[in-house]
Amino acid sequence: MRMTSGLFAAAMTAALLSRVAVAAETVPTGKLPDDAKPLAYALDLKIDPKADRFNGHVRIKVKLAKPTDHVWLHARELDVAKAVVTDAKGKAHDAKLTLRDSSGVAEVAFGATLPAQDIELAFDYSAPFNAKLQGIYKVKVGDDAYVTSQMEAISARYAFPSFDEPRFKTPFDITLTVPKDEAVLANTQQIGYSESPDKKWKTTVFARTEPLPTYLIALAVGPWDVVDGPTIPANSVRKNALPLRGVGPRGTGPQLKWILEQTPETVKYYEEYTQQPYPFDKLDLVGAPDFSAGAMENAGIIVYRDVLLRIDAKSPASSYRSSFNVNAHEVAHQWFGDLVTVPWWDDIWLNEAFATWAQGKATVALKPEYLGDLSRLEGTLRAMNSDSQLSARKIRQPIKDQGDIENAFDGITYQKGAAVLRMFEEWVGEDVYREAMRDYLAKHKFGSGNSDDLIATIARVSGKGETLAKAMRSFLDQPGLPLVHAELKCIKVGDSGKETLELSQSRYLPYGVLDQSNPQWQIPVCTRFSSNGKVSRQCFLLDKPKQTFALNSDCAQWVMPNADASGYYRFSLDKGDFTALTRQAEDLAPAEQLVYADAISSAFEQGAIGPEVVLDAMPALASSDSPQIATALVGSFEWIREHLATDATRPALDAYAKSLYASRLKELGLHKRPNDGDATTRLRLGLVDLLALTVRDKDLRAQLNGEARAALGLDGGKVDLGKLDPDVRGVALKVAVQDSGEAAYKAVQQELKTNTQTKQRYELLAALAATHDAKLGEDARNYGLTPAVAVGEIQYLYYSNVGEEENRAGFWNWLKPNFDTLRKRLPDSHQSLAIGLAGAGRCSKDSGEEMREWFAPRIKEMLGGERKLAQSLEGVGTCGALREHVGTKALAQWAEAHPTR
Ligand SMILES: [Zn+2]
Repeated sequence: MRMTSGLFAAAMTAALLSRVAVAAETVPTGKLPDDAKPLAYALDLKIDPKADRFNGHVRIKVKLAKPTDHVWLHARELDVAKAVVTDAKGKAHDAKLTLRDSSGVAEVAFGATLPAQDIELAFDYSAPFNAKLQGIYKVKVGDDAYVTSQMEAISARYAFPSFDEPRFKTPFDITLTVPKDEAVLANTQQIGYSESPDKKWKTTVFARTEPLPTYLIALAVGPWDVVDGPTIPANSVRKNALPLRGVGPRGTGPQLKWILEQTPETVKYYEEYTQQPYPFDKLDLVGAPDFSAGAMENAGIIVYRDVLLRIDAKSPASSYRSSFNVNAHEVAHQWFGDLVTVPWWDDIWLNEAFATWAQGKATVALKPEYLGDLSRLEGTLRAMNSDSQLSARKIRQPIKDQGDIENAFDGITYQKGAAVLRMFEEWVGEDVYREAMRDYLAKHKFGSGNSDDLIATIARVSGKGETLAKAMRSFLDQPGLPLVHAELKCIKVGDSGKETLELSQSRYLPYGVLDQSNPQWQIPVCTRFSSNGKVSRQCFLLDKPKQTFALNSDCAQWVMPNADASGYYRFSLDKGDFTALTRQAEDLAPAEQLVYADAISSAFEQGAIGPEVVLDAMPALASSDSPQIATALVGSFEWIREHLATDATRPALDAYAKSLYASRLKELGLHKRPNDGDATTRLRLGLVDLLALTVRDKDLRAQLNGEARAALGLDGGKVDLGKLDPDVRGVALKVAVQDSGEAAYKAVQQELKTNTQTKQRYELLAALAATHDAKLGEDARNYGLTPAVAVGEIQYLYYSNVGEEENRAGFWNWLKPNFDTLRKRLPDSHQSLAIGLAGAGRCSKDSGEEMREWFAPRIKEMLGGERKLAQSLEGVGTCGALREHVGTKALAQWAEAHPTR
């Protein structure tokens, strides 16, 4: 169209104005501006796993909300050869993509101002396969090369130019051109196929996706084994049968059978719960040979570390359990995260807490033998430990930059979030809660929902209105963990009495830490209590600093202030009430026994009770058949042993642990018996771990060392790890490296050259690095920097290294010159790994200062590192403060009363 002079002037003014606007416009490193919105993508990628790079042609339909001469989007490490913008009338203009921020924020300039309208952006580009398991990346296994992807949180920008934010949900048309013999998969079913004239390439067209955010796009190309699982039959919620497949590196197909068999029931469970059919047209479970996280819930194509899918007769019981649990978590995401997505990363808990909470429900319902209720409670207690720090994040922490996004994937988001969801489920009732969840999903399906939407739905459906909304927000929008102090106060009325319960709240913090702001919560508190042999349960909303509630009973003999362990809080009692509860401990419900044990360890961490109280409480729990309960105080025991014990008192502690647990292990036997269930196997491993690795029982170690020596061929014969009992294989290999020295170390390293069983590789790497030999320790640490150790394996090696007290000084000296080399191998999400490693075992102000000084000038390079360092230093500080506060005297007295035999 020819411009009249008037229109030209107007266009010029608009262009000038917009240029002025650009000059003043800061680069949007957080959210993108609202004036451009993607409507649909067409991704056309040409991928050869044998090459170093891939090529892409991407078209994005974009709605411009106002006249502009540019849009902002994301692109990172992409070489854009050509950019074209086509206006609503079909006229194409050359455009220019310029990177404006190293996090991948780019400006696409049109060269002229376009009015508000729908336009199309098209890019021709190429990019390297990412070396750090981000975006579209490649892994070599022997001579095979596999390409797969990981887009969450913000790595889609490595794969294609995009509006890389969760609030933009659009359909995607994906077309992949790959070498003819390679398997190829994407989010949806294949609908078109063609071959190149020379027959070297094939082009696969996939069905248009449902509206998805960029972070849920995924693909896989390579010589994969693709095996059909059982088709998931139609049911009352879903009209069509659902195809299910397992995908893994060449040769691993048979190992996928077990998890494929489990998946239909899991899908059905969520369909019944949500009354929403599985939202996509197929489900593929892909086991990637290397992967940065555990698994990723891409719509219709979940990608896992292959270790989580590869299950066979040689797998330990823990592998079956993790496989089931992680699969149940990722499948839950297909509704919680994929069907309904969060608009921005500050609400990511809605994805992760939902999936964690839903997985807990599914496991309890489908695999009761896994004791899922205790496992999720263990997760909650771990989150409580993180939440006891002053530097803890809020569940709904504001997100300012990429580091905040990476930090958002932590125990506060997952386990605290899930525990808060469960607490309110308990409060409004399971049926009402399910109605609210169904309502929420139905209303927001294929779109987005945020915390306010969810809270409003539960508040309305439950009829609890603003009271519930306020209570939920008190847990989402402030950090920390409440401590509820409960006190029974019986009021005499004539001959009998009426019981009352006084509840007060404060923030739980470890010894020596104060929160001046004195935060308050609105806490649903459920209690169990006994009066004249009759046990009752009663719930209250504690919404003041201190409140007295009437119990529906006469004077009570004891109270459990967290009935069924459903509340997200710790509790304390006065001495008399605690003694009364202790007398009941063995009769409490298993979950209540676990929070009872937590009340002991948390009181110890507050400096309120001495080590002797913790130690004396161990026998009552040690005889439990539940592995979680039997070992509930072992964490505290290990802390006492590491930080309070001296050469004089340690033997008494070790003898005590043996007296409590060695006979139990003897009863169970060192190896799995035919009828052992999951709990037995888990208990056995817990006891072996404590007795062989912490207490270092000589006889047990000799037996494990002998078994591992035979498997490693040290006394003649070939290496055959199949000789070891899979459940204790990892511990046996560690013991062999520690007790059989260089010969075992060398055999383990040799085995790593050819072993491709991922679970065994993790165990071998952990064994290698667990050496107590200074020279071999250095060798193991250097080994972790070589390509022989895959990126996703790195953490197993170094965490095992610093897990041994003997290695910590060596690690610290090694880290300083090797920090950059290590950091450069790690994905964005793992940049602060070195902080966690360097902090292991530190327990004094001075050692904290040493860490602070060294990391301070480097912290800016470590994505999310500032918060990680603050948390680590706070942990070191509180450990040191408690150690000084407790001193060694009480333990010495205890040791005198518990002589070693
Ligand atoms: Zn998740």
